Amino acid sequence: MKADKKKVFIRSFGCQMNVRDSEIIQGILQKNGYSVCENDQNAEIIIFNTCSVRKQAEDRVWSLIGSYKGSKIIGLVGCMAQNYKDKAFLRDEDVSFVVGPQDIHKLPEILARIQPKGLLERKIWEVDNLNRPEEIYHTGFYQNPNHAYVVISEGCSNFCSYCVVPYVRGPLRHRQKEKILNEIEAAISQGITSFTLLGQNVNSYLDDGFNFTELLKEVNALKGLKKLGFFTSHPKDAGIATFKAIRDLEKLDKTLHLPLQSGSDRVLKLMNRGYNSKEYVALIENYRKIVKDGSLTTDIIVGFPTETDKEFKETCDLIKKIGFNAAYIFKYSPRPQTEAAKMVDSVERQEKEKRHKYVLDLQRKISNKLKKENK
Ligand code: SF4
Repeated sequence: MKADKKKVFIRSFGCQMNVRDSEIIQGILQKNGYSVCENDQNAEIIIFNTCSVRKQAEDRVWSLIGSYKGSKIIGLVGCMAQNYKDKAFLRDEDVSFVVGPQDIHKLPEILARIQPKGLLERKIWEVDNLNRPEEIYHTGFYQNPNHAYVVISEGCSNFCSYCVVPYVRGPLRHRQKEKILNEIEAAISQGITSFTLLGQNVNSYLDDGFNFTELLKEVNALKGLKKLGFFTSHPKDAGIATFKAIRDLEKLDKTLHLPLQSGSDRVLKLMNRGYNSKEYVALIENYRKIVKDGSLTTDIIVGFPTETDKEFKETCDLIKKIGFNAAYIFKYSPRPQTEAAKMVDSVERQEKEKRHKYVLDLQRKISNKLKKENK
């Protein structure tokens, strides 16, 4: 252990996938002799592990980068890095390196080219890799001593029209089943007992004919594992087999997160979601028939381009009809490269706010009612 370890602070934004990526970054850096600080005060290098799914999250990152006023070496990493590429240097000249989600394994080498006082190289960017090396998942570092996120697939090929993920994280790729099981078994041997399997669309997991339900069964059977969950399901791929697994596997969480996004068939089509409201309702009916003690959560986007009052009402009606235990409600914002960004963002900001507040209130009432009924 050298006394002059470089100190790095990682600021993480976005989804569970990014939480896991920040752990991976920390694990890799620690293995390569870096000290990862609890806060930014003593750090020479600040890594922003970023999210591009919503504009608001991006704006916050730029504002935080600006707040350092050049006092630190700043790295933009993750989805925003992939999105902006070398344009990030024009957006803020204090950004020194830009590293996409598929290139995070190169961080030790990139940091080695940078010195705390003055840069050996002023601007470095790495955004071209397509596949992550498997080793990055095996550093053994997890923030939580009791729980681990385990990535089962990377990227997404669904191209929902509002979503930037396929552009910044690339096409859907699956990790090999054996490697996933090895990672979980190693984590169990270090005392972790609770796991969440992660992917943008876990239901489409496939490794050499071995599917998601089969993976769930094998993971559930691991000795020492006590709790298991997964995130995120897609209504066009989730089905009876997964629901039966939720019912039958004793360690598996009985909550299903199934993003609805809209209750209007026209809007769902514009979103390129691959299902309509009738199909979604049929899916939920099956889920409830099979998983009697299950609960249900969802995602909703309000103010999608051209969404009318009537279509918004259809979303509200469906939320009432289904009765989700919880919902994450988002205001639409255009994301670069996406199909929806080519449409006119026709719903005014105030109207989006109004619809957002309305659904939040509606969902709060439904959640409270279900809690009281102890459903
Ligand atoms: S399924 Fe759709 S919303 Fe989810 S990551 Fe893929 S493109 Fe984005």
